[in-house]
Amino acid sequence: MIKSNIDTIRANFPILHQEVNGKPLVYFDNAATTQKPKQVIEALNQYYLKDNANIHRAAHTLASRATDYFENTRRTIQAFINANEPEECIFTKGVTESINLVAQTWGRANLNAGDEVIVTTMEHHSNIVPWQMICDEKGAKLRVVPINQNGELIMEAYEEMLSANTKLVACVWVSNALGTINPVEKIINLAHQVGAKVLLDGAQACSHLNVDVQKLDCDFLAISSHKLYGPTGVGVLYGKREVLETMPPYHGGGEMIKEVTFEKTTYNDIPYKFEAGTPNIGDVIAFRYALDYLTVLGKENVADYELQLLNYFVNGVNEINKQTNDAIKLIGAAKSKVAVQSFVIKNMHPFDVGMMLDAKGIAVRTGHHCTQPLMQFFELEGTIRVSFALYNTFSEIDTLLQALTSIAKYANR
Ligand code: PLP
Repeated sequence: MIKSNIDTIRANFPILHQEVNGKPLVYFDNAATTQKPKQVIEALNQYYLKDNANIHRAAHTLASRATDYFENTRRTIQAFINANEPEECIFTKGVTESINLVAQTWGRANLNAGDEVIVTTMEHHSNIVPWQMICDEKGAKLRVVPINQNGELIMEAYEEMLSANTKLVACVWVSNALGTINPVEKIINLAHQVGAKVLLDGAQACSHLNVDVQKLDCDFLAISSHKLYGPTGVGVLYGKREVLETMPPYHGGGEMIKEVTFEKTTYNDIPYKFEAGTPNIGDVIAFRYALDYLTVLGKENVADYELQLLNYFVNGVNEINKQTNDAIKLIGAAKSKVAVQSFVIKNMHPFDVGMMLDAKGIAVRTGHHCTQPLMQFFELEGTIRVSFALYNTFSEIDTLLQALTSIAKYANR
């Protein structure tokens, strides 16, 4: 379905149609941020051309229009993740802010000395540092689930780690550096058996996998719009109503209050209790068009197509390795993966490979991918990472494989 419509799909992404360093752009840095379809760009333009007003606060027409559109996005994300109600979806700046919100509110209210927070070896820094900060403050302990050489969690170790001391499991659903899909249903189920809450970092999962927070039964899910073909600066924190209602507010200010006197302030209901100040209205409104775009294409179709691209790439690398004495080493070979692949090339620094590819118009990510502990596990300074999206093509992968063949031959000389 995606393959037969690829030209129409690509026509929706104006940015793809340009040359970089004299070559057609090949954009394989989708795990860092996805490109935006023109439906999203036009919605953003439309907002500033016709609808711009502050929301929730005024009686005039533009304000009520802007408010309606803003709240429409909340209903769309509710449906997208199958939350029980829109009020369980809080707008934030992104996954990073969503996680910090939980650490600073739920964490501050619920963690005490001797309590434990469990994360995994493959976390993004944004799901490590906020927990380190609050654990340090509260005298709680951060524990880390180990992984194997394929980049999969060692679930027996996780099971052994769980105890009555475990208060929270904060786990990445899909690894941004390896593409590993973690067994989150099992992780959540086991955590709940010891009474712990579970936060899922959904940054990489939500564009590839179907999300049903009620079925998963996670307590929190963190999402970034810009990884989902939407604008930057917008994210969502999903939380179960009964959990969100017990949490103290995050930022103080306008919108998050019911009544303010100098003696006492009473706080608004969820979600507004956690949405102090003027939010990123235009980008939230435009985000809805990204969610609709993905929903119309069908996530199963997208994921299926992306995995075909991944297999094509991995097979191509295996062919290059036959000619070059295994010059390319793939990092991350989990059985269950999305279309993200890290690799290194012997005798080559990842950054140099990135520059060589850029000279051919190919955009990839190099470095530690904000997962330094994971890189330490693999004893690497960094990797080269390609990540595929719904608008990428097999012929773009041919271009990459051709470039990698020359680099691998050079490395193996
Ligand atoms: N978690 C994962 C797995 C990510 O890949 C990223 C971004 O790369 C983040 C968290 C942070 O997301 P953001 O920068 O949108 O807050």
